[in-house]
Amino acid sequence: MDIRKSNTDDNELVYEQELRPVSFSDFRGQQQLLDNLKVFVKAAKMRDEHLDHVLLHGPPGLGKTTLSHIIANELGVNLKITSGPVLDKPGDLAGLLTNLDDKDVLFIDEIHRLSPVIEEYLYSAMEDFKIDIMIDKGPAARSLQLTLNKFTLIGATTRAGLLTSPLRARFGIKFLLEYYDVNILTAIIKRSAKILNVKIDDNAAYEISSRSRGTPRIANALLRRVRDFAQVKGNGNIDLEIANYSLDALNIDQIGLDEMDNKILLTIIDKFKGGPVGVGTIATAVGEDAGTIEEVYEPFLIMKGLIKRTPRGREVTETAYKHLGKIKFNEQPTIF
Ligand code: ADP
Repeated sequence: MDIRKSNTDDNELVYEQELRPVSFSDFRGQQQLLDNLKVFVKAAKMRDEHLDHVLLHGPPGLGKTTLSHIIANELGVNLKITSGPVLDKPGDLAGLLTNLDDKDVLFIDEIHRLSPVIEEYLYSAMEDFKIDIMIDKGPAARSLQLTLNKFTLIGATTRAGLLTSPLRARFGIKFLLEYYDVNILTAIIKRSAKILNVKIDDNAAYEISSRSRGTPRIANALLRRVRDFAQVKGNGNIDLEIANYSLDALNIDQIGLDEMDNKILLTIIDKFKGGPVGVGTIATAVGEDAGTIEEVYEPFLIMKGLIKRTPRGREVTETAYKHLGKIKFNEQPTIF
């Protein structure tokens, strides 16, 4: 099971809805971002205007979708949700935009995956709140300009580098979401346990959070798996012993690395002498998509100081060798 991709699963989506914070006061962490956002939302409300367009950037599972729900709630407006790959015809986007009420929020997930045609279409919608639509076909075809209600576009991306500069420039508010520290994740786990109606000891919540890669989605997913173990192998309550037992059974190590993380590190060490090696080559060697490695696995490995990016490719660090109990290639004893 790959917990990081589990948000695509319908069942997991239901849980995510249940555990998702709905107001600023429910949302933990990202303090500076939250403080600024509260000011911008309050100011927009005081002026009775739409909020400026917001770009949220950060690895999956850190709260981008959650924040867009909260923003709409706090503004007291409707939220429409779509994603870059889903919007493939200008007509789809026009349909969404023309249905927005005054000050509504439109959330576009994976905005870096918009097609160039749609992206261009968005420019005038974002800037002038106008779009051109084509009516009729063939020789009778003509374009008609529609004025839209003033709305807020919230774009979420795991790859801000892939956004074109004209699109990026149209966002007045840009936030980078950081990985969460263990104490905040512990508080998130305790809140989720309360909602799921399961008893959890403080040290067990701390243990789960320290193995959650700084990511609330993973923390919540691990909590639900540990709850299963507690129910079947224990008395239903989560203590440190059952937490450790479950996390070990799930092959999640002390710092939260799972099988794929370890596979990536070991492949670079064993097959490529520790690097540097290109991400495409790593992807082929471990049987994973290069984009997924870059968006999902690598940011955490870099944050933990296990991998570094160099102009010639990825290199594992001393810390990675130590963590895996490996000896560096050039430090191995020579055999004559
Ligand atoms: P993203 O859109 O960045 O991939 P989501 O907003 O879907 O991430 O968050 C995934 C899950 O993590 C949500 O269901 C929510 O329950 C939880 N979550 C995210 N951020 C927080 C937070 N700051 N506090 C509490 N729970 C959070």
